[in-house]
Amino acid sequence: MSVGIINKQIEERASLQKNFLKTANMLFGKDWNELTKEELYQTLVRTVRQYISENWIMTNKYYEENQCKEVYYFSIEFLLGRLLNTNLINLDMKEICKEALKDLNIDITELFKQEPDAGLGNGGLGRLAACFIDSLASLGLPGHGCTIRYQYGLFEQKIIDNQQVEIPDNWLKNGFAWEYRKADKEVDVHFGGNAYMAQQEDGSLKLVHEGYNTVAAVPYDVPIVGYHNNVVNTLRLWNAEVPQDFASLSGTREQLQERLRQSYRVQAITSCLYPEDSSYEGKMLRLTQEYFFVSAGVQSIVRHYKRRKGDLKDFAKKIAIHINDTHPAMAIPELMRVLIDQEGMDWDTAWDITKNTVAYTNHTIMPEALETWPIDMFKNLVPRIYMIVEEINARFLEDVRKQYPNDEDRVRRVSIIQDGVVHMARLSVVGSHSVNGVAKIHSDILKAHTMRDFDEIYPGKFNNKTNGITHRRWLIAANPQLSSLIDEAISDKWRKDPSRLIDLLDYKDDTAFLDKLAEVKKEHKIYLAGHIKRRSGFTIDPNSLYDIQVKRIHSYKRQIMNILHVMHIYNLIKANPSIKSEMLPRTYMFAGKAAPGYHIAKETIRLINNVANIVNNDKDVNDCLHVVFLENYGVTLAEKLFPAADVSEQISLAGKEASGTSNMKFMMNGAITLGTLDGANVEICDAVGEDNCVIFGLKEHEVMEYYKNGLYSAWTEYNTNPAIHNVVDELLTGPFVGNGDFHDLHNYLFNSNDEYFVFKDFNSYIDAHVKIRGKYLDRYGWLKSSLINIAHSGIFSSDRTISEYAKDIWNVEPINLLK
Ligand SMILES: *Cc1c(COP(=O)(O)O)cnc(C)c1O
Repeated sequence: MSVGIINKQIEERASLQKNFLKTANMLFGKDWNELTKEELYQTLVRTVRQYISENWIMTNKYYEENQCKEVYYFSIEFLLGRLLNTNLINLDMKEICKEALKDLNIDITELFKQEPDAGLGNGGLGRLAACFIDSLASLGLPGHGCTIRYQYGLFEQKIIDNQQVEIPDNWLKNGFAWEYRKADKEVDVHFGGNAYMAQQEDGSLKLVHEGYNTVAAVPYDVPIVGYHNNVVNTLRLWNAEVPQDFASLSGTREQLQERLRQSYRVQAITSCLYPEDSSYEGKMLRLTQEYFFVSAGVQSIVRHYKRRKGDLKDFAKKIAIHINDTHPAMAIPELMRVLIDQEGMDWDTAWDITKNTVAYTNHTIMPEALETWPIDMFKNLVPRIYMIVEEINARFLEDVRKQYPNDEDRVRRVSIIQDGVVHMARLSVVGSHSVNGVAKIHSDILKAHTMRDFDEIYPGKFNNKTNGITHRRWLIAANPQLSSLIDEAISDKWRKDPSRLIDLLDYKDDTAFLDKLAEVKKEHKIYLAGHIKRRSGFTIDPNSLYDIQVKRIHSYKRQIMNILHVMHIYNLIKANPSIKSEMLPRTYMFAGKAAPGYHIAKETIRLINNVANIVNNDKDVNDCLHVVFLENYGVTLAEKLFPAADVSEQISLAGKEASGTSNMKFMMNGAITLGTLDGANVEICDAVGEDNCVIFGLKEHEVMEYYKNGLYSAWTEYNTNPAIHNVVDELLTGPFVGNGDFHDLHNYLFNSNDEYFVFKDFNSYIDAHVKIRGKYLDRYGWLKSSLINIAHSGIFSSDRTISEYAKDIWNVEPINLLK
């Protein structure tokens, strides 16, 4: 390093320190060495915010002056996690901050821990949105997020007496240090009332909407910092509040009380995130949330557009709106409403603009998870939106009848309003110009089955965009040791361009390098063992293989199969202790939340914890088997797990998982996938080759065949497969039944005729674990596979995904703010 650069660093460090101390004084009115950890954290964020806000203003100015096309990513969830560490990395300020604070005797990692997880999401869908906005900013693309500012995020999970207990996640209690309230950008959202067309004096028809309730939507903006590129985009969180004139009104006691009640109703709109991952209850409040943030978002986009960009005719050339699944589908009729009712546009022009503006991502092919709303509920809550949906549907069906005369069956299958409900996925397909699935297999199934009629009606509209994850959080931030090791080998260019990770292949036979890779893994395994010891009291062996399944608890993801297999292994050892000499010491780890109303998922958690307690306290098996359930799975816990994993369990029934993204985080950190050919596992396996992952189980077409011919019988499987027979019986009696048996799980498996083919795939799952053992015993073979996985993980960076969206769907261009 040159003297000049060093001097500059010293200068910057001193100026940062000065800034930090000044900010501390200003915020808390005391000397910095009297501050609590929380206050130090708040001070650091405020200090960093000053650096961000300069770039934020500059970015917005650039977008405006250059009339850039901008994307708005609408998602009812953004599972951000903590932001301080990743923001410092993206700003290239981490080292300097660390050193500046070290001079004050402050350990920066202690301050990171003060930050609450912004848990504004359930799982994969919400985390995808978070990875996407990180990539948008880091690629210099004009793209912003739009969502709800939930006062309570996803519940905090505790395990008490082996069971899940849900605790409200009061994440805002010390304030959210990254948000900026923008009171001047408030918009009104209207609910209820009557909507109808009334004849004007000149004979024309005009929409009348009266008797509605008004809710004020107030935005809180969070800066989204790009990686080393000076770009700062915006995530807008909408908060529901009582309109300003509301509180000041005087009135009778009854009127005041009614107003108070109404203000509670308003605040309830953004009070909590629905903890439902992939099936939807018909809840009025949920529908209210959906319209609330979509209406606020669309109105503010149009207002901004008119102010900065001018002619509404060109709207679709300058604005793209992306809807992440169907929860924001009302963006379509809402944009129609604004263009027609407020801007006086005719239907055809408005429809053209709307369709060319909106694009839709589908996330599920499971029919029970497709969103529908009862007509009455929809109509009462948003009467004008319902009118528009009816009109969209009428015009659409007219076209379908023209294209397919005498095919009323098809008309029924595609009708947006059918059998008393509004189909949000159908609305999303009809009202958008692009519909994408999230992995190749998923997009193929969409076209061939779930959305076949629509694919025929709109050839070319359906496409695939395989999901990705940001390597900045999941490798650079979560695994700095591995990142440095990669730098040593192939230089740090991969940090800006993750496809360069492929250069690591040069080291696949370099045992010295592979040893270093093993050291890094070991370091994380030891750290995780310490974490587990502190949290659960269990002592686990860092020399054992860490086999990890972490994701929402759901039948289709088959945590049940995993734990039944652990029970099977336990039984083998108990029956024949000498078998241990042939076994690999393993630690099976689980983490994940169950929706509070999802009984089978909660029983699965209880079973895992029961098994863990028996296994971990049994000296006969202890030297080669441990089971751990880590409580409160979220982004922060996930960041500790992926770097420590040897095996990535991705065992959903083929055809059920749209993509999965934890599979990508695991491989990026060198874990080997043990999985079915489902979701993005297929593409991971294609990328790394069959020798570098372990695939088992039914194929998707085989599953389809069983569903079609109805020839599957859970009872036959049970009666003919002793391995299954034994462990399934143990749900009712035996060592694992402590605090109550598992007859509900048992009944579920038989009453549903084992809907996710746990029994059918069990033997091949057992074999897959045997294969893993064989591979692991070959130390350098294993490390080579691990390295090959890391090398091929570049294509699963969300930078690749977002580049595809930008080019194929949004038609937006990157900007360059580097001097
Ligand atoms: C990546 C991620 C998920 C998604 O996991 P899948 O295994 O793909 O379902 C869920 N939750 C968190 C916290 C994550 O980081």
